[in-house]
Amino acid sequence: MNRPIPGTVQIAVRHILSDHTTGVMTRTRRITWQDTPYRVRRPASGKHTVELTCSACDAAVRAEVRDEAATRRTTGILRTLAALSVLVLVMAFGYAVHEGGKTLPEGQSLPVLFPISIIAIALAIFAAPMFFVTSLRYTGVSKLDAPKLHGIMPVRN
Ligand SMILES: [Zn+2]
Repeated sequence: MNRPIPGTVQIAVRHILSDHTTGVMTRTRRITWQDTPYRVRRPASGKHTVELTCSACDAAVRAEVRDEAATRRTTGILRTLAALSVLVLVMAFGYAVHEGGKTLPEGQSLPVLFPISIIAIALAIFAAPMFFVTSLRYTGVSKLDAPKLHGIMPVRN
């Protein structure tokens, strides 16, 4: 049913119905929404604007659709950034373990690169999965303007 059709992309207009956070010790976020699925056509090249309607409230939502090549390029860049983050993580971690494991002579402090490697590890741990998840979710469709509580969600083919 959800076979990918060349030149089109599946997305959904999401209407957030409610967003509650309950609990004190363990916070639970409960979001309910209503999605309106759409299959929009990609332009042959460049980008174009599509007008969509939210089925929950009839609001008009405008989205920008990029062509296949540009979408693939962006996905490729995001994956490369994810791979680079993993590389930085591995290198900084190796360095930190190497330097941190040394017994320093009296009065000598750790090299300045040591705290930098710790910061790099912290950033890369956050960045690698973020770039990867973003690359999976990127459809080349972005929200231009829509009333509050509306969004454009990717739909898996
Ligand atoms: Zn709506």
